[in-house]
Amino acid sequence: MAEAARRIELVDLRTQRRRLGTAIDEAIARVLDHGQFILGPEVARFEDELARRCGVAHAVGCASGTDALLLALLARDIGPGSAVFVPAFTFAATAEVVALLGATPVLVDVRPDTFTVDAESLGQAVDWVATTHLRPACVIAVDLFGQPADYVAIAEVTAASGMGILADAAQSVGASLHDRPVGGLADVTATSFFPAKPLGCYGDGGAVLTDDATLADRVRSLQAHGRGGDKFDAVRLGINSRLDTLQAAVLLEKLRIFDDELVTRQGVADRYGQVLGQTVRTPASGPGSTSSWAAYTVLADDRDHLAARLAEAGVATAVYYPRPLHHQAAFARFPRAPKGLGTSERLAQRVLSLPIHPYLGPDDFDAVIAAIRD
Ligand SMILES: *Cc1c(COP(=O)(O)O)cnc(C)c1O
Repeated sequence: MAEAARRIELVDLRTQRRRLGTAIDEAIARVLDHGQFILGPEVARFEDELARRCGVAHAVGCASGTDALLLALLARDIGPGSAVFVPAFTFAATAEVVALLGATPVLVDVRPDTFTVDAESLGQAVDWVATTHLRPACVIAVDLFGQPADYVAIAEVTAASGMGILADAAQSVGASLHDRPVGGLADVTATSFFPAKPLGCYGDGGAVLTDDATLADRVRSLQAHGRGGDKFDAVRLGINSRLDTLQAAVLLEKLRIFDDELVTRQGVADRYGQVLGQTVRTPASGPGSTSSWAAYTVLADDRDHLAARLAEAGVATAVYYPRPLHHQAAFARFPRAPKGLGTSERLAQRVLSLPIHPYLGPDDFDAVIAAIRD
């Protein structure tokens, strides 16, 4: 039967493309015609619109979310001797940039309800670092699956030590905490426009967001080989990391429908929450927060069995993430919070992300639910 052959994807970019009609094709054609592929007018226009949408003074486009994290750390002079606190339950990019700069990632545990940094584990790790030769420099709070981290509790820990907070908002642009949009919840925020993220382009892209004009200037210098006033005067060591004009043109069109898409995603999440609560543990939102629902991640004791059954029913799922950082060769040698990373380990065994996107219609939704109840 044709019905049985239908696959329900985690993210549906094709339907989004149909919805946008010829808008993106025309935007791309305009770039091909004017030919300013590097830092063309669409880049500055997108940066302005993104900054406005996120409620911050400055947005600086760059080549990826990973580069956005790297640029933010470079702008803060993070390097050898700096301890940077990173959750153990996240994507490798969050921690790799720290280690690549010669700084020390200190792995902290996450909360079992929101999967974001556990302020208590963070506090204990900061106290431990104070007994070493390392300088507690910064925490990277990850807004995992679109849920903002608990910035209020994290700020209580960092305030005492003068540490900075960098938000890894690769998955959470569009979310908010106490009515403040992601972008302005930390001193500096890094985000990604990887195609499957809530605001995705058609390739790689990222941005650094901040209210701090000096920091934004440093990021602009660092992304252009550390240039000073003129192009051939490097005043610091930098890299080459720009948001392509073509990707900015795509993002300008996608930004027009972004808020509407967030409402639809929230509707899907609400319906999942209503019908799945008896069967699996559904994700919690922290107090006063909204999520951008980059992923809808449930907890199930028989996760692998459930994933296999859903695959048979044509429903795509994913395990984000099957291994905490300390169980991966690249990160096993870095220090860990004094009381360990037990929650990160348990989550890695039980998480399963279900299809969520703005175009998941009622039939697809019912098919997912039926397959889970089975
Ligand atoms: C996707 C992602 C990144 C990296 O973004 P890229 O654009 O792929 O470099 C970093 N951190 C988290 C939490 C992510 O999900």
